[in-house]
Amino acid sequence: ITSKLPHIGTTIFTKMSKLAQEHNAINLSQGFPNFEADSKLLEMQNQAVKNHRNQYAPLSGLPKLNQAVLDKANSLYGSNYAEDEICMTAGATQAIFTSLAASIHPGDEVIMLKPAYDCYEPAVALFGGKPIPIEMKAPTYEVDWNEVQDKVSSKTKMIMINSPHNPTGKVFSEADMQALIQIVKNTNILILSDEVYEHMTFDGRPHLSVAKYPELQSRSFLTASFGKTFHVTGWKLGYVLAPKLLMKEFKKVHQYNVFCVNHPMQVAISEYIADKNTYLNLPDFYQKKRDQFLSLIQNSRFEFTPSEGTYFQMASYKNISNEKDTDFTLRLIKEFGLAAIPVSVFNKDEKCRKMIRFCFAKTDATLEKAAEIINRI
Ligand code: PMP
Ligand code: GLN
Repeated sequence: ITSKLPHIGTTIFTKMSKLAQEHNAINLSQGFPNFEADSKLLEMQNQAVKNHRNQYAPLSGLPKLNQAVLDKANSLYGSNYAEDEICMTAGATQAIFTSLAASIHPGDEVIMLKPAYDCYEPAVALFGGKPIPIEMKAPTYEVDWNEVQDKVSSKTKMIMINSPHNPTGKVFSEADMQALIQIVKNTNILILSDEVYEHMTFDGRPHLSVAKYPELQSRSFLTASFGKTFHVTGWKLGYVLAPKLLMKEFKKVHQYNVFCVNHPMQVAISEYIADKNTYLNLPDFYQKKRDQFLSLIQNSRFEFTPSEGTYFQMASYKNISNEKDTDFTLRLIKEFGLAAIPVSVFNKDEKCRKMIRFCFAKTDATLEKAAEIINRI
């Protein structure tokens, strides 16, 4: 066949985790916790299976779970999402893919901020859209909203945002959100707001969801992931929130894409999420991990600015080597037994900036072992 994605290979996450295994390396590359989820949640899932919750779930998701998520979003962000404005998905990845499938026509321009999570661009391209990349400004990775404004054209269908941001850990400020509001005002531009790290913001920073701003809520697909929030990335369960008109189109695609998603896991989460502490404690939990990791590597030759959110920390190796980040990370695995992500996979220009990404969603023991290596590099 003629490839629809001729320039795309296997994702860096698959490559790096495989190499880490082959070399028995400590894996701070692919973003996932190496500790177990809460045993209560696992037990709820077991019970759901035993209780015969093993057939198809409703197309949009289990009503009890949908209601719990609507209540959570509406109370945290002051939004007014209704019953028919939510759909459960197979992780945020499917939420993003299906949102794009439902809204992007050939020739539509989609503005995305680089570095950008690796699934955005290929998905836009598959539906005939044209990705319009805009660089966040290194070293602090601020967004130049004037540049975003300049790139808006009559063909702009969507702006994709992601705060807290993978891989930089950047968290949008009120000024960022206001600038975005000004840009989309009096236009038909849609927003896809990838908020999978909504419960991982540090040093007292609030998460500014599009759901907090009626002008944004009314034009946004908001995508989220239980995998991140409840330490179960392998469950591949997430959801999308969107206003009625967008959701109607979303579901037209969703019903022929997956129809519905994992039933017993939805049952488990619908029970588990009733305890607000399961997500409200998360910023503190991950801030401690970040702080522990950074204090362990503060005397290393890597340079870093503490991550503002997510479970990722970027670090510059410019004092260590002149290699491209892809070569450097390969050598780290082979020579030092440590796996990290070369940031240029999210943005080719990062190659010259010599940045790599570490995931600190790891046990204390793993972070200590990793730091011991990092301090030797
Ligand atoms: N968006 C971002 C920014 C991510 O880091 C991830 C990573 N896992 C996803 C989306 C996909 O989430 P899920 O695993 O729930 O599909
Ligand atoms: N989101 C995870 C990361 O950034 C990886 C998810 C995946 O492997 N596709 O590391």
